[in-house]
Amino acid sequence: MTRSSAIPGRDCPRCPRLVAFRNSSREREPDWFNAPVSSFGPVDARLLIVGLAPGLRGANRTGRPFTGDYAGDLLYGTLKDFGFARGEYRASADDGLELIDCRITNAVRCVPPENKPNGQEIAHCRDFLRATIAGMPNLAAIVALGRIAHDTTAVALGRRVSSLKFGHGATHEVDTLTVFDSYHCSRYNTNTGVLTPQMFRDVFAQVRTHLDAAAP
Ligand code: URA
Repeated sequence: MTRSSAIPGRDCPRCPRLVAFRNSSREREPDWFNAPVSSFGPVDARLLIVGLAPGLRGANRTGRPFTGDYAGDLLYGTLKDFGFARGEYRASADDGLELIDCRITNAVRCVPPENKPNGQEIAHCRDFLRATIAGMPNLAAIVALGRIAHDTTAVALGRRVSSLKFGHGATHEVDTLTVFDSYHCSRYNTNTGVLTPQMFRDVFAQVRTHLDAAAP
């Protein structure tokens, strides 16, 4: 697969429900990004983070994954603390924030109604996830944020979901890759105490230790 197939076009037609939602958002908010959101960060990174899908007023508005909503505050703050990002995160795609040895993508590239992509949409978008993974020559670790990201990553890597069970803090060896699971860093999960900032940090501490141990 070529690297370019990791990037859906602005008018990707694959998912009729998401196309309709995108079009209505374009009409309502013509100044927003309102298109499939591309991955962010260097392709030669060793770490790939897989999120769920753009938030309506977050990545769908700004055009950069996890940028402009609560989940981004926690994610980018944590990445900076563990040396995976530098610069100021100002919730805008032109804030100059840089990712270091880390790339962020989403299981589904278009904003879904109520933040809930359906099974067909997840399957349609998996081609882009596969191509993203295939286009990262140094990839060593994946952090899957939530069960949907975990399951689609498992399938993209050629595994059965039943052979790779999602669990917060779990790790899975898949050929040369290690997959780290975390609950999604959504506002809902943190407000309900499903995920505390410390639980999230613990996952990235593990990733940091893993990658530092593998460094030449
Ligand atoms: N923003 C994203 O880009 N992805 C998520 O999973 C959540 C918010």
